[in-house]
Amino acid sequence: MIPYGRQDISQDDIDAVISTLTSDFLTQGPAIPAFEAAVSKYCGAAHAVAVNSATSALHIACMALGVGPGDLVWTSPITFVASANCALYCGADVDFVDIDDRTWNLSPQKLEAKLEQASQAGRLPKVVIPVHLCGQSCDMAAIGALAKRYDFKVIEDASHAIGADYGGGPVGNCAHSDIAVFSFHPVKIITTAEGGLCTTNDAGLARSMQLLRSHGVTRESDEMTHAPDGPWYYQQITLGYNYRMTDMQAALGLSQMSRLQQFVGRRRDIAASYDEALKGHGLQLPETIEGALSSWHLYVIRVQPDAQLKVFEGLRKAGIGVNLHYIPVPSQPYYRELGHDPALYPSAMAYYRQAISIPVYATMTDENVDYIAAEVIRLLDENQ
Ligand SMILES: *Cc1c(COP(=O)(O)O)cnc(C)c1O
Repeated sequence: MIPYGRQDISQDDIDAVISTLTSDFLTQGPAIPAFEAAVSKYCGAAHAVAVNSATSALHIACMALGVGPGDLVWTSPITFVASANCALYCGADVDFVDIDDRTWNLSPQKLEAKLEQASQAGRLPKVVIPVHLCGQSCDMAAIGALAKRYDFKVIEDASHAIGADYGGGPVGNCAHSDIAVFSFHPVKIITTAEGGLCTTNDAGLARSMQLLRSHGVTRESDEMTHAPDGPWYYQQITLGYNYRMTDMQAALGLSQMSRLQQFVGRRRDIAASYDEALKGHGLQLPETIEGALSSWHLYVIRVQPDAQLKVFEGLRKAGIGVNLHYIPVPSQPYYRELGHDPALYPSAMAYYRQAISIPVYATMTDENVDYIAAEVIRLLDENQ
């Protein structure tokens, strides 16, 4: 089976992990700041805070922005559940903003309309979490302008989008947001096995997130309530977690960062091949907005609703590990139980009835790409 995504591990990656294993630090050592520095430098963000997953990164990002009971957090219905769950972890309420029919990202027009209504009802969100679906940035200039007008904070869920560009700069530079979050799960653009990271330009937010990832404990005397009892002293000054990344993971991440542009370049070539091979077959293909360059974590095609199951099953039968990203979050039983109604997001529901993610990853061969495109066309001809 050709998977929909997979990691690319080189001998250099293996050597980096092995040398960390025999070093003095397996965790809380020098590989963490080295990896953080590489990501913040690449992204052009002042600070980076590495953690054990993007889910943890989203949680501490919400906490650092003060999300708590009574607050409202909005995100896209077409995302992995973690983009919404992070607000529930904080005791806040979640709501969704429907997607754009062309980019499949959270629609800035629908966001504006919903903000106008919320403003009249007196219940504006504290934080909005736009998700850069498939690796294409949302329209962050529009979302950033709305954040100023309606006074909310922005966390970019850039789990798919390390290596992507927007507005002439790298995603993660937080030009229109407070915090951006990356995932390093093996199917994503670079991997640390499990892992995530927050970038920000705000030193206070960065420090809060550092404390939150490690029990809320500080060894900095100027953060303590009184002078240290002695050289052994630390203080817990807030309630944090153990969300730390290990040094083996950070070493792998640092080694992977050196090939980020190569990975994304290959993904862009594959996407261009799919664009060319699949156009004119009655499919809706991914559309890129002005000023955005996707990292192509995913390549999603939209088929006619009554062909989706047949094409999906046919591709799986042909050894192609297609997938569906994503089932709308408000349609999940847990969210329905909380009172969410997926019918309020018609564009997300229409997307769900048509979307299929076809494989894209850096080690795919041109033969794989040609075979997958030919199988998609064959199944379309048979079924729609
Ligand atoms: C993968 C993913 C996450 C969660 O990432 P983990 O590192 O697995 O916790 C969150 N949001 C989106 C959009 C994702 O794709």
